[in-house]
Amino acid sequence: MTDVSIKRLNASQRDFDSALSALLAWDDSVDHQVNESVRHILHEVKTRGDQAVLEFTEKFDRLKAGSVAELEMGQERLQQALKAIPQDQRVALEQAADRVRDYHERQNQTSWQYEDADGTVLGQKVTPLDRAGLYVPGGKAAYPSSVLMNAIPAKVAGVGEVIMVVPTPDGVVNDMVLAAAAIAGVDRVFTIGGAQAVAALAYGTDTIPSVDKIVGPGNIFVATAKREVFGVVGIDMIAGPSEILVICDGKTDPDWIAMDLFSQAEHDEQAQSILVSPDAEFLDAVQASINKLLPTMERSEIIAESMGSRAALIQVADLSEAAKVSNRIAPEHLELSVEDPVALVEEIRHAGAIFMGRYTAEALGDYCAGPNHVLPTSGTARFSSPLGVYDFQKRSSLIGFSAQGADRMGRVASVLARGEGLTAHARSAEYRIAGESNE
Ligand code: NAD
Repeated sequence: MTDVSIKRLNASQRDFDSALSALLAWDDSVDHQVNESVRHILHEVKTRGDQAVLEFTEKFDRLKAGSVAELEMGQERLQQALKAIPQDQRVALEQAADRVRDYHERQNQTSWQYEDADGTVLGQKVTPLDRAGLYVPGGKAAYPSSVLMNAIPAKVAGVGEVIMVVPTPDGVVNDMVLAAAAIAGVDRVFTIGGAQAVAALAYGTDTIPSVDKIVGPGNIFVATAKREVFGVVGIDMIAGPSEILVICDGKTDPDWIAMDLFSQAEHDEQAQSILVSPDAEFLDAVQASINKLLPTMERSEIIAESMGSRAALIQVADLSEAAKVSNRIAPEHLELSVEDPVALVEEIRHAGAIFMGRYTAEALGDYCAGPNHVLPTSGTARFSSPLGVYDFQKRSSLIGFSAQGADRMGRVASVLARGEGLTAHARSAEYRIAGESNE
């Protein structure tokens, strides 16, 4: 395997801003044919329900079944999978699940209310969603960690029913995925995938109940289907390629940093790995480690393609400038591989998850640290947050006027409503003003 030469940028160069913009750009256009095909699948499932789900499952996953009910894995089957997987996998899944649950329990929101001087009660009532749909990808690989990261916050939030879908090409069921569903407490599991599964969850069929929100990653067909059904149901996000940005003071083992960059690059060719450091010699050392370690990687071709086209080694004047560059990028994963990460975190404004200190490999966050691994990508950390319990709960406003409050605020409402020409609004408020007649 030939060496991969990673792009070198310097924040002091005159065209740095435009070079950075070019680095961050990626092709997110969706093929016209994919759009057409997804719309067709959605329409068929919406109008023909179970029968269409069966047909598409046979066509795309080569899995033939007499009914959708046959594609449901009952709780007994999930428990069977839990017993079937090797002991070390079961223990690891349980340990990861415990930490993820523990972390997310701290995110639980509570309802609140207060009383004002008129005795009027105002507040906010928090209610979990009735039903959530969880898409677990399963076309080319299996992702038990995705099951935990999506299902546990939903269960912690108190969602009434969590329905999971996972494609099983050629009917090959992945026991680790089913075991993760058992541990996370998923209520129902259907072995279907793609746009047909998203459609079934959004519109409901005779066998698959419709849900209120669909979460979870997937390929282009799944992402396009989620975008299309948004509005009928809620969705978590449309994730772009994975990203990691490492800020290093030059004092971490370069092999560690190279491997951390690989850990995202191995996801796919469009993944982005960036190292920012004030130490030019350290950037050279990491480039050398990359070339040394690349041939040892199982997914070396994907890593080489991703690192060759989308990675960068960026030199900055100091760590403050590194933080500024990072804020501009708003990365999904940010590693602060420095002596004093607590001081540096003060300067970070935009990042999905911040990994503090040399020992905090981003990979731990992917599996078992506790926080969610579903994170905003493509700069969206500027305005959005990791998947959490709050994504499975909604808020209703509570308003309870006393007679005195209705009198005082009714006068305000009346003036504003008459100003807007909405007489019914005005009179509805005026009826409740003491001494006003209903004329
Ligand atoms: P998938 O479950 O997303 O897709 C498989 C389904 O795609 C099949 O069931 C089939 O219905 C549908 N499909 C395939 N070819 C089709 C066609 N020609 N027309 C219509 N439908 C078709 O599994 P996958 O393909 O392995 O993709 C998984 C994706 O999820 C990857 O892109 C991966 O990077 C991503 N992922 C992201 C995260 C994250 O946290 N961001 C985690 C895990 C996986």
